[in-house]
Amino acid sequence: MNTEKQETNRKLVALTFDDGPSETTPKILDILEKYNIKATFFLIGNLITKETKPIMERELRMGCEIANHSFTHSDMAAMTGEQIREEIDKTTKLIKETVGYDVKFFRPPYISLSDEMYENIDLPFIVGLGCRDWEPDATAKERKEIVLNEVKDGTLVLLHDFIGNDNTVEALPGIIEGLKEQGYTFVTASEIFLEKGIDPNVKRKLWTNVFG
Ligand SMILES: [Zn+2]
Repeated sequence: MNTEKQETNRKLVALTFDDGPSETTPKILDILEKYNIKATFFLIGNLITKETKPIMERELRMGCEIANHSFTHSDMAAMTGEQIREEIDKTTKLIKETVGYDVKFFRPPYISLSDEMYENIDLPFIVGLGCRDWEPDATAKERKEIVLNEVKDGTLVLLHDFIGNDNTVEALPGIIEGLKEQGYTFVTASEIFLEKGIDPNVKRKLWTNVFG
């Protein structure tokens, strides 16, 4: 065992955002920057373009992490192994080519799952604590309250930066301030596993909290 393993008693949370890069992403980054905190962005491969590349560069400059959320955001449980590998490999490769970053995590679109996916995707699967922020009728206040009531040490929080998701932009400052009041430190997905001394590479495991 590595005796220098970084284990601390800090309360850690990892904010994660799906479905970018989009025009909502800079609004999220402005808020993260104001509070000087990091997050993890699960990108849809076919949204990576010349126009969105600067958003990705800004994410990395701010110390944020970039991860894989498929290429077409389709229901991957309906796909063959070959199609699944194409979704993942195209996105991983495009992120690498665009900003030189190696992704370390995957989140399944719609959290739709199959045996084929587990067999063909060689990245840890992240789900995260949802706050209904993909539902148009969930208010900013409701989103904030779900996160603040259900968060625990080691939680990955599932949020979305898709186009038009203004309620999450509105909820985010309150989520951050509430988590700070509860004593949380904000880290990336990679950092939350590393600092807690947990290996995320567990077969057929869906992670919402690094402890369970
Ligand atoms: Zn998604």
